[in-house]
Amino acid sequence: MSKQTLSFQAEVAQLLHLVTHSLYSNKEIFLRELISNGSDACDKLRFEAINDGGLYEADTELKIKVTFDKDAKTLTITDNGIGMSTQEAIDHLGTIAKSGTKDFVSKLSGDQKADSQLIGQFGVGFYSGFIVADKISVESRRAGMKAEEGVRWISGGAGDFEVESITRPERGTSVILHLRDDAMDYASAWKLKSIISKYSDHISLPILMEKEEWKDSELIDPKDEKGGRQPGGMVKTGDWETVNKANAIWSRPKKDISADEYNEFYKQISHDTEEPLAYTHNRVEGSTEYTQLLYIPGKAPFDLNNREKSAGVKLYVKRVFIMDDAEALLPTYLRFVKGVVDSADLPLNVSRELLQESRDVKAIREGCTKRVLGMLEDLAKHDKLPEASADGVTDVLSAEDKAEAEKNAGKYTKFYKEFGAVLKEGLGEDFGNKDRIAKLLRFASTSTDAVSVSFADYKARMKEGQEAIYFITADNLAAAKHSPQLEVFKKKGIEVLLMSDRVDEWALNYLYEFDGTPLQSVAKGAVDLGKLQDETEKKAAEEAAEAFKPLLAKLKEALKDKAEDVRVTTRLVDSPACLVVQDHGMSTQLARMLKQAGQTAPETKPVLEVNAEHALVKKLEGSVHFNDLAHILFDQALLAEGGLPDDPAAYVKRVNALLV
Ligand code: ADP
Ligand code: MG
Repeated sequence: MSKQTLSFQAEVAQLLHLVTHSLYSNKEIFLRELISNGSDACDKLRFEAINDGGLYEADTELKIKVTFDKDAKTLTITDNGIGMSTQEAIDHLGTIAKSGTKDFVSKLSGDQKADSQLIGQFGVGFYSGFIVADKISVESRRAGMKAEEGVRWISGGAGDFEVESITRPERGTSVILHLRDDAMDYASAWKLKSIISKYSDHISLPILMEKEEWKDSELIDPKDEKGGRQPGGMVKTGDWETVNKANAIWSRPKKDISADEYNEFYKQISHDTEEPLAYTHNRVEGSTEYTQLLYIPGKAPFDLNNREKSAGVKLYVKRVFIMDDAEALLPTYLRFVKGVVDSADLPLNVSRELLQESRDVKAIREGCTKRVLGMLEDLAKHDKLPEASADGVTDVLSAEDKAEAEKNAGKYTKFYKEFGAVLKEGLGEDFGNKDRIAKLLRFASTSTDAVSVSFADYKARMKEGQEAIYFITADNLAAAKHSPQLEVFKKKGIEVLLMSDRVDEWALNYLYEFDGTPLQSVAKGAVDLGKLQDETEKKAAEEAAEAFKPLLAKLKEALKDKAEDVRVTTRLVDSPACLVVQDHGMSTQLARMLKQAGQTAPETKPVLEVNAEHALVKKLEGSVHFNDLAHILFDQALLAEGGLPDDPAAYVKRVNALLV
């Protein structure tokens, strides 16, 4: 094929612009990305060669070479992996195929500062080469194809790229970076080696660089302050040395791995710039043998809420990379976890479908789930600093323990802020671990705005005679906090948990009790404060209900299209009315959410509860505006819980008529 010029897909052009304009602060990541592509290409070759050994073409030692040429101002990363055909080069280097990357690009705001933060938590991949290069040429030949079927791809990183056919005897890919003038410091063996050991020690392939030696003639006075050498006096020797540890970190013994190494590996696989909150590394030898290295990130990715996207765990079989994002290895509600599982027992040609059915995978999934919950329990346990001893003067901890405690304090709070809502999905998804998950949940409450109250904390503070854990769900914290349904609880000093995550309503459906105490929504059913209500209050309520009977009948008739029932309540103090749903009915809030999501919600009508003590309610009796007041009462109750009257204009008209 003769030379051909093609345009980048619009998203690529956008990404390229961003890469070259906002990644100045962290230039060196380009090397990590290109080496990881070389490593992926070798993984792919190894994988395809399981079924077709001929692809090795008698060159079975997979490796990556990094070379540079100061005079030509080039830096080249070469691998002998799977390589690319012409069409693959056009497709893979000219378009963004992955939906995740597309989503990412669509999130970019154009504000460079915000965007460069976003991009930091995302791998920019191949295009990161343009941070240091003003031109990149890629030469490649796919394994199994003829030497004449090689391809050269060249681009200056603006709107388009060129491709042409070349002859390339050796299989695999060379990425040749034409370094920008301000990136010439990367044409240095020392610099490259230090970046490689920082980012790529875990790459299980050898990364080779040509050895250099000092030229004797360049030796000058040994007492010279530059160490007796003249700058630039190095020459290549033709010998190659391996410059990375070439050892999969998870296959090394725990005791030989430093916290820094663990954290650095996390950053590589997650593209996160921050350190993880926790990690766990174990070799498991049970019914099936595997190694797990799992991390809890400190920051949610932008697409966390996409349940489809799921899982951040890579699957290896005996150190051979099999697949990214293996959903079967962890339940969906733990999709924030990053890491690696390396199985000793699964077949190398395992497919996603096979994974779903494999017994070994089930055991791995259970084991990993337990470990992750264990890590979270640990974080939760150490979230608060231990309190100082009773006299408040002497510290109970040794300096070492204190430092450790300070390091761990606040981590769970941070975790929960980012991932709490996702964790709650587990109540509905993982029945076997429901109790462990419930213990990990935290909520705001009428006692504190901070999302910090556990069910256990709540239980410890329950009033004498209180028989349920009370909670309310609403669209947001303010709506929950100011809900009229809380009035009687506030008056009596009973704590109520405030829930305002979208998932709460759904998730709480699966949790009926905690540690023997039932959970009770304050917006469902009649309030039964049980022993918390004294006899005189009960009697007064009964009398009011009796006296109100005729009025209730009239209200019921006036609102028969809107309300299932109208009754007198003791749950209100300052508000005239509120809406509740029948004991087992779907809350109005959940019904609203379902409708917004385009789903059908059962048409259940709420119950209107009125406060017999309220002036407005008293005024109803004998009012000439009875019908209007009744509707206003209902619509206001709806407004108070964040809903909208069915006919807002009619509501406004009625209120205005009364105002005039
Ligand atoms: P990612 O690695 O996340 O897929 P990149 O932008 O790094 O994204 O690379 C895009 C694609 O280009 C890769 O998925 C792969 O198909 C192809 N590619 C890049 N580098 C190489 C290489 N050295 N050998 C073979 N294919 C490559
Ligand atoms: Mg890549």
